[in-house]
Amino acid sequence: MADAKKILVLPGDGIGPEVMRESLRMIEWLDRRGFARFELEEDLVGGAAIDARGVPITAQTIARAKEADAVLFGAVGGPKWDRLGFALRPEIAILSLRRELGLFANLRPARVLDPLVEASTLKPEIVRGLDLMIVRESTGGIYFGEPRGIETLADGQRRGVNTEVYTTAEIERVARVAFELARARSGRLTSVEKANVMESGLLWRETVSALAPQYPEVTLHHMYADNCAMQLVRDPRQFDVIVTTNLFGDLLSDLASQLTGSLGMLPSATLGASAADGRRAALYEPIHGSAPDIAGRGIANPLAEMLSLAMMLRLSLGLPEAAVLIERAAERVLASGLRTADIMQPGKAKVGTQVMADAILREIDKVAA
Ligand code: NAD
Repeated sequence: MADAKKILVLPGDGIGPEVMRESLRMIEWLDRRGFARFELEEDLVGGAAIDARGVPITAQTIARAKEADAVLFGAVGGPKWDRLGFALRPEIAILSLRRELGLFANLRPARVLDPLVEASTLKPEIVRGLDLMIVRESTGGIYFGEPRGIETLADGQRRGVNTEVYTTAEIERVARVAFELARARSGRLTSVEKANVMESGLLWRETVSALAPQYPEVTLHHMYADNCAMQLVRDPRQFDVIVTTNLFGDLLSDLASQLTGSLGMLPSATLGASAADGRRAALYEPIHGSAPDIAGRGIANPLAEMLSLAMMLRLSLGLPEAAVLIERAAERVLASGLRTADIMQPGKAKVGTQVMADAILREIDKVAA
């Protein structure tokens, strides 16, 4: 039998453990039904780790993450830890994992499932069938570039500085992730920058263009970031895969998530480079945070975490058929009229976290039968 799939499970705080619990049931199901053998390790991060160990993440947890085939993350943070200094904030856990595992490509799909087409603030005819993937460079660019800081000038004015910096290697590695995804999807890739006004944007455009001949199955377009924002609300279905810088990706991926209308539905992945043996560090997590306002009430939507697990099965564990099973089951359960509070619509049945997960597991059983 093939080696067990090693997953490090980091539930975190607030609704993190509540939605994680349901995804773990799904993994147990996949194991029981022989899709693969899973070896799970669980650890503390965020506020839970601060309370138990005094830091948001320990070196040992990071070492375990490096050894795993993939990391499944819940969410961290909450008012209890809001007054700690920046170095101790729960969110440091995720920043440390990104840095230590070299996770540079943040993948955020925005998919409108048919039963939720009315949840978008855009007209149904604009978003029906939308299925796009934004690949955001996540360790470089203006959030990390030097020089940076705030200085006081001789005349007493203050001056704030941040610097957009990209090297060809940084651009190439994230562009390759995007080309590969586009090749496995519809073959359309849009690279987004501001080459008209920024030298780093011009280098981005030239570097992505130079890679294009290596991916003849992919049609590459370039677009300025401002136009892309406009096109995303005008006609989002023109896009399949978008690759862009850290700053523009931050803005455009939030914009795209709103096209789907629900935070509780959105998964994400952050990938590192492929090693020579084919292994690639990867972390999967819902877009949403720890939702302290609803934590402990059993009403959180478990779908974003489950769909993050589906991304993990497809992108890290070589189990695309298991990913499709989860995605189809989720869609069918929504079509049957069940809704958690965050996606509630008139005439539908409101259910809690566990009942929603029960229904999805039952549906998976049926689909797999
Ligand atoms: P949030 O995403 O936690 O919540 C925003 C709103 O969406 C809330 O009303 C919440 O109830 C709702 N919501 C979120 N996920 C939901 C789900 N699965 N089902 C139903 N409703 C859901 O964002 P916030 O309130 O700005 O932040 C809360 C805490 O989470 C803060 O401490 C913040 O720093 C942290 N945070 C963590 C991450 C992460 O772990 N990656 C991401 C964002 C925010």
